[in-house]
Amino acid sequence: MDYKGQVAMVTGGARGIGRAIAEALASRGVSLAIADVSLENAQATTGEIASAFGVRALPLRLDVSKSDDVSRAFEEAVRGLGRVDILINNAGITRDGLILRMKEEDWDAVININLKGAFLCSREAVKIMVKQKYGRIVSIASVVAFMGNPGQANYSSSKAGMIGLTKTIAREYAGRGITANAVAPGFITTAMTDALSENVKQEMLKNIPVGRFGSVQDVASAVLFLASPENGYVTGQVIHVNGGMYM
Ligand code: NAP
Repeated sequence: MDYKGQVAMVTGGARGIGRAIAEALASRGVSLAIADVSLENAQATTGEIASAFGVRALPLRLDVSKSDDVSRAFEEAVRGLGRVDILINNAGITRDGLILRMKEEDWDAVININLKGAFLCSREAVKIMVKQKYGRIVSIASVVAFMGNPGQANYSSSKAGMIGLTKTIAREYAGRGITANAVAPGFITTAMTDALSENVKQEMLKNIPVGRFGSVQDVASAVLFLASPENGYVTGQVIHVNGGMYM
């Protein structure tokens, strides 16, 4: 896959799945804007990736749910790196609770960061990509968008919304050289899932035919394919990376 001269913006790229995606892209020579709610974390990760892979990498402070932040971050990315070929909508949070007890603020926080954030970032990216007549947008959804999950009404709704957003962008901009796809990970070992109890983890493992939890690299591999210049004909699709727990 020839990514020569390409630039990617990875939201929530300081750690977890976002960081693994940033590393995978960097290993192909892609320049990176690593945007995270914590500038300190973004700077640390950017420094490590730039020295490990020898690519240009720009740390950005970005709260994806704030439109002013988002437009400023994309301006800085273009000023610093010249273009944006790839957007990875990865920033996401959970605020779990059964629906009867779910606080409105927890619903709003998750929808605003996971879904509205993907909309705001995609809108800025599309402005740039339309001019370039080229772009790849990959959004990190979740298996729970398809299965539902007790305690995650806000999260599963936000991720289901991302699928609708992805398909709509795919239809609106297919003629402009822009593809939009999603990856729906199952249970991936990161800080987000480390918070679950050992009991819950063991129960989940019983439903994964491959017999293990996923790694951040499993997700990054699927993203690499969708974000590749060679993938111009897969758009509006979801790749499930879940060890077979949903098929
Ligand atoms: P993670 O380890 O919690 O990392 C998420 C990153 O996003 C963190 O660096 C976090 O910053 C940042 N972030 C949070 N709110 C943000 C905001 N408003 N603006 C910009 N950045 C923000 O999570 P992960 O497990 O790697 O998950 C990454 C994505 O994959 C998420 O969208 C998640 O929903 C999805 N996913 C994960 C799994 C899984 O099993 N782990 C499964 C399916 C889908 P702070 O650390 O400072 O909060």
